[in-house]
Amino acid sequence: MHSISYERARDVRHAIELGAQPGSKFIGGGTNLLDLYKSGIEQPVRLVDVSRLALADIAETPDGALRIGALATNTAAANHPLVRQRYRLLSEALLNGASSQLRNMATVGGNLLQRTRCYYFTDPAFEHCNKRAPGSGCDALDGYNRIHAILGASEQCIATNPSDMAVALAALDAVVHLQGPDGERSVPVLDFHRLPEDRPQDDTVIRPGELITAVELPPTPFSWHSHYLKVRDRASYAFALVSVAAALDMDGDVVRDARIVLGGVAHKPWRAFGAEAAVRGKALDAEVLARAGAAAVAGAQPRGDSAFKVALAQRAVARALAIAAGLEQAEDHV
Ligand code: SF4
Repeated sequence: MHSISYERARDVRHAIELGAQPGSKFIGGGTNLLDLYKSGIEQPVRLVDVSRLALADIAETPDGALRIGALATNTAAANHPLVRQRYRLLSEALLNGASSQLRNMATVGGNLLQRTRCYYFTDPAFEHCNKRAPGSGCDALDGYNRIHAILGASEQCIATNPSDMAVALAALDAVVHLQGPDGERSVPVLDFHRLPEDRPQDDTVIRPGELITAVELPPTPFSWHSHYLKVRDRASYAFALVSVAAALDMDGDVVRDARIVLGGVAHKPWRAFGAEAAVRGKALDAEVLARAGAAAVAGAQPRGDSAFKVALAQRAVARALAIAAGLEQAEDHV
């Protein structure tokens, strides 16, 4: 039987001290970790409970940014008046994630660290998973891979990142604040998650013992014209097949600048720089929207069952942009 110890951190410094010891895992809301622990995927030797640390505040900073404490729940962040007013895209993405019961427990920091929902990763009956057991292979490559990556994958892993929140945060140029044994540092959300390359076991750039303390959103020109579009198998509760965070800075009918980030298609939120270039300086007509959609999936390499995602992502990008610009009404499907 696997034995495990539990300690509650008194403060951030104590948490980092405990978290730096081999086999430690921080636990906040626990919504993903406990599932993985019960199925034997995660086997920490020590749970460091950080849930009572004073890291749940959501407040404006002196320079006009919004700092969301890592322990703010997804519900608290989605419904906070400043998030709803200034970062509606984030609120939409959070409310598209999980169920209300899970959002009440799950934290912003934990959301960034949730693991892939690749079937072969979450079910220990499958032996070959480089993310779970480095060097063992990848059962998804020639298996049922309908939910898997079409962009940025490697021969080691074709899993996708499951977070809706991270897609919106990447589009809003948010930054993750970390504190660890070597001090404090900040990483843009877009650089926080990694592509699998030859180390799929590392989902993010977080270092041993580092604790996410907050996420910070800078003042943004993208507040008024944005939309989070999530395409999934079940409207009530499902991870994205494809999602798009589209945020536009408009000058009348013309796009001054854009952020377009895709979810459900890669091992990390996938910023579509080519699609952004396709709409910059343009009024959004059908031709420009189609060009942006095509640019968003440039270089896509679907594997078998995931081929449908290429056309789906193209249409989703065009539709999210049209809704963000006010040219179409939001609906629940593409
Ligand atoms: Fe594991 Fe990644 Fe392959 Fe899924 S896609 S089985 S997570 S290595």
